[in-house]
Parts: sequence; C-alpha cells; structure tokens
Amino acid sequence: MPEYKAPIRDMKFVMQELLDCDSHYQKLGYEDASLDMVDAIMSEAAKFTEQVIAPINKTGDEQGCTWNDGVVTTPDGFKEAYQQYVEGGWPTLAQNVDFGGQGLPHSLNTALNEFFSAANHSFAMYPGLSHGALATIEEHGSEVQKNTFIPKLVEGTWTGTMCLTEPHCGTDLGMLRTKAELNDDGSYAITGTKIFISAGEHDLSDNIVHIVIARIPGSPEGSRGISLFIVPKFNVTDTGEVSDRNAVTCGSIEHKMGINANATCVINFDGAKGYLIGEINRGLNCMFTFMNAARLGVASEGVAAADASFQGALAYAQDRLQMRSLSGVKNPNGPADPIIVHPDVRRMLLTQKSIAEGGRALIGYLAQLVDIGHASKDEAEKAIAESKLALLTPIAKAFLTELGLECTSHGVQVFGGHGFIKEWGMEQLMRDTKISCLYEGTTGIQALDLLARKILGSKGEILKPFGAEVTAFCVANAGDEAMQEFIQPIMTFGGDWQKMTETLGLKAMQNPDEIGAASVDYLMYSGYLTLAYFWAKMAKVAQDKLAASDDDKAFYQAKIKTARFYFQRILPRANGHAACVANGAESMMALDSEEFIF
Ligand SMILES: Cc1cc2nc3c(=O)[nH]c(=O)nc-3n(C[C@H](O)[C@H](O)[C@H](O)COP(=O)(O)OP(=O)(O)OC[C@H]3O[C@@H](n4cnc5c(N)ncnc54)[C@H](O)[C@@H]3O)c2cc1C
Repeated sequence: MPEYKAPIRDMKFVMQELLDCDSHYQKLGYEDASLDMVDAIMSEAAKFTEQVIAPINKTGDEQGCTWNDGVVTTPDGFKEAYQQYVEGGWPTLAQNVDFGGQGLPHSLNTALNEFFSAANHSFAMYPGLSHGALATIEEHGSEVQKNTFIPKLVEGTWTGTMCLTEPHCGTDLGMLRTKAELNDDGSYAITGTKIFISAGEHDLSDNIVHIVIARIPGSPEGSRGISLFIVPKFNVTDTGEVSDRNAVTCGSIEHKMGINANATCVINFDGAKGYLIGEINRGLNCMFTFMNAARLGVASEGVAAADASFQGALAYAQDRLQMRSLSGVKNPNGPADPIIVHPDVRRMLLTQKSIAEGGRALIGYLAQLVDIGHASKDEAEKAIAESKLALLTPIAKAFLTELGLECTSHGVQVFGGHGFIKEWGMEQLMRDTKISCLYEGTTGIQALDLLARKILGSKGEILKPFGAEVTAFCVANAGDEAMQEFIQPIMTFGGDWQKMTETLGLKAMQNPDEIGAASVDYLMYSGYLTLAYFWAKMAKVAQDKLAASDDDKAFYQAKIKTARFYFQRILPRANGHAACVANGAESMMALDSEEFIF
C-alpha cells in the first residue's frame, strides 16, 4: 500500500497563497479561523489521517463489511478509528455552534476531507453521509427536529444516510414507489425498499438517521410529488435519547467493485415511523439546497484519488530500475536507471500531479464560494458566488472524478504488472474511485445539468460572473510577458467555448438530441479550460513569489513547470472534445436500437 502523506505544503499554497483564506475568513466573520489555527488543525488532520485512517485502508478493502441477520459489522479497526474521530471533535469542526459545532469555515473542512478521502475513501464516506443528513435537517427541519437530531449528528455519536435510490430508479427519482401514510399522531408510516444506501447500517454509531424520499398517497406523479422524511433507526424520546427500534432493517449489503469497507445497504422500511421535513411535495427542492455541497465533496474524492495514486506512483518511479534513459545513463552505479527518467512515465506522473494540484485549487475556490453563501451579509456577493457555484459544481464533480479515475489508472500503469497485483494497493485506488463518477449523479447527468439546465436554461446568463472573472484575470496580465504562455491559450479556448455554446443553443432548437450528444464532451472541454484558469493563477502566484524572494524556490519553480505541462500536454485534449461536439448527434443516433449487434 502506498504510504499516505497529507499534502500540507500544497494545501497551504492553495488556501493561503492562492486564495488568501486569511482575508476571506476575517471578512466573513470567522474570527477563530486565524492562520495559526488553520495550520494547527491541518497538521492534526494530517497526523490523524496518516496514522489512524490510512493504515486501515487496505485491510478494510480485504475484509469488507459483513452482514448477519440484519446486523452489519465494519472491518477491524473501523469502530475504534471512528471512536477516535468522534473524540477528536472532527465531526464538529464546521458545524453550527448552536448545535455543539465549532463554527469553523466550510472550506477548511473541505480541505481536510481531501486528506480523509485520500487516506481511506470508505472510511471518509461514513461522516460524509452524516453531513448530508445534517445539512438537510438544518436547512429544512422544524425547531423540534433540529434540536432532536442535529446535536448527536454534529457530535458524531449518531450518523446519517441519504435514502433516494430504489431498485427500479436512480437517476429518475420521479418513479419512486416508497410511500408515506399519515399516522394519527402527525408522523408518517414509511413503507418501501431503498437500495445502494451508503452507511445504511453499521456498528459505528448509536443511531442512524435516514433521510428518505417517499410519496404521500394522492400526491402528483413524478418528481413534483416527492416528500422528504427523517426516519431514525431507533426511535427517539422527547429528551433526545434512543428508545425502541423503528421498523427499519437492512436486508443485505452489496458485494461490489470497490469501497468494500463502506456498507452499501438494501434498507427496508416496513411502516417505519418518519417525520416530514419541509413542505409536502417539495422533497426534491429541499434536496437541491445541499446538493452542491455534496457534489463538491464527491469532486474532492477525485482529487484525493489522483493524489494518493500519484504519491504511490512517484515513490515507485524513483525506486524501480528498468532500462537506460534514451538521453544517456542517469544512474551509472546501478544496473539500470530509475523509471522516472523515461518520458512516458513522466507523462503519467505529471498528468497525476497536474490534475491533483489543479483540482485542489478548483475545490478550494468552490469551497470558499460555499463559505460566502453561508456567511456573507452582502446579498450581491452571495448571488455572484451562488451563480459561479451553480456553473462550476457539475464541472468539478464530473471532470475531476473522471480525471481522478484516469489518474488512478496511470498509477497502476507506472507500476507495470505490479500495479495489477493487490499487494501494492494501486488497483484498490482505481476500484475505489470509480464510484465517484456514479453516485451523486453520474457524469452524463452532471453534463446535462450543466449544458441543458444551467447554460441553455439560463440563455448563457450563468456563464457571465465566472466568465467576467476569467476575462479580468487575462486583461490584468495582458502586459506580463512571462504570463503569455498561459493567458493566450485561455483567451483562445475561452473564445471557442463561447462560440461552441452559441452554436449548440441554435442546434438544440432544431434537434433536442444535439444537447445530449454534446453534453459530456462539452463538460470535459469546460473542465480542461476551467483547470487551465486555475493553473494560470497558480503560475502567477509562483512567479510573484520567485520575484520577491528565494524562499521555497524549488516549490514555486515546480509549480510553473507543472503549469507549463498542463498547458502543453493536457489542455490540448479540449480540442478533441470540441471536434466531437462539432460533429453533432447524427452518427450517434443513426443506428436503430435493434441494429447495435447482429
Ligand atoms: C456504492 C454505491 C453507493 C451509493 N450510495 C447511495 C446513497 O447513499 N444513497 C442513494 O440514494 N443512492 C446511492 N447510490 C445510488 C447512485 O446514486 C445511483 O446508482 C446513481 O444515481 C445512478 O442511478 P442508477 O444506478 O439507477 O442508474 P440509472 O439511472 O439506471 O442510469 C444508468 C445509465 O443511464 C444513464 N442515464 C440515465 N438517464 C439518462 C439521461 N436522461 N441522459 C443520459 N444518460 C442517462 C446514466 O448516466 C447511467 O450511465 C449508490 C450507488 C452505489 C453503487
């Protein structure tokens, strides 16, 4: 298993030097989030993930969760590690002080989540799901519901789930069959089966709070008739203590490709007692409010996977001796050169590095927009932040998870045949991260959300705030000779992006399939361009630092070299996606479904 080291230096570069988190936090009133405090918390998180969470990653994968008559047991060490996680106060970090949280910024938590995910994807999902449940109750629950459920979820002694998917519907939740019938006491009897419920049953916490979507009889068909409910595993007394068992059981757990240490459950509700959250038939709208945050969390899993795989591949490439460098012997005292001398190995390592570091910058930026949405008092600033977040979240979610998966494949490849062998842990990273392209909306669904709902749905309005920011950056650096290798491509690709969007808008009016046919290529193009902007910004910071002093020179020089690699070897991929978009839907739709195979 590659030994995980939390990328503290680079995370500080992103948070402090690129995104100036100090001013950002002070401006939003996060007085406790001083630079010293941020540094101290980050160091503790690094230690905890490296020493407690990472060591149970491989064993967790090998052992998996086990199911016995409805009881789910997590792999050895998970319960103890989760206990330490709770005792360390980690779940409380960015939660509301009114419910026992520490009130620190969301963006700090997001940064640390990358460490947890990279150390152990399966483990990180348990608290991740709790966060979704907690955010839903906090945003839409009644005062009684908040006081009953949130403090324990914040503390981490109870965990949460999101129960949406059913056997016959995942993407199309309007088809759900789980029903909710009103009881005499105002609660609801929930009946139905949910599948693929992450952390649906386990032995880590005293209670599990399920957030369930269901239809109340008489509600409209489709997504307009969905309501949202809290359904605890154990009923809760008026004083907030666990009492008798609710009619919620785990029918089985899935045996799957990866994240084996996270229990993926079939959950049966047999007239279980549930409590309506928000208004009847507004369930999906309630879910949308936290969906950006959840998708951002999944996007960060892509970055985490890329970085964990990069760390393993880099160490191996420096150590493994095979063949001689084409440009002359580099290791004369050894029988061969280390494989890091070979250009193709460097292609893979630099792809991993540029995606991990570029993705980290994009996630950090988006997390600050979430902070603004939570804490700013300036409505105009909030509206701009929300618009940028709406545009960039599907891009980050789909692009970074697809590229994260690609990077883990490079990690296997750098190891040669050894990458295919379980012992090294590189194939586990690849198996574990595939799920990030699927849950919280597949890549295809993110692409439709971006192109159809957001861009064409707003007639391009949504592009304006972020577009203006990128343009302002290019204009501000137009006279800087050293920045031209980055600025010019952004302007060219950005101009083409605009033209592509306009052309697609016109084509879609004649043939709606043009949107679906273009959407994933369009999203990937948008992703490559967006990351180019963040690489250009990082190059600018590095250049300024180098001009100002000799401190940490090697770090900043490496940033500029990596930016150059990104612009020369990764960004051009966008041209391929543009060509696919331009070729349109015709060839995709030409075969009848019976003609696919003979
Ligand atoms: C390990 C794991 C954990 C999960 N955790 C949870 C959880 O905690 N809670 C929960 O509720 N769910 C969870 N899920 C479910 C997950 O969110 C769904 O699997 C996912 O949303 C896709 O739904 P589906 O599997 O039904 O696929 P489908 O909806 O059947 O989609 C199949 C394929 O068709 C494509 N497709 C569908 N509609 C369209 C369209 N209109 N245009 C283009 N392409 C389309 C999809 O992109 C996909 O490629 C989990 C799943 C797994 C495997």
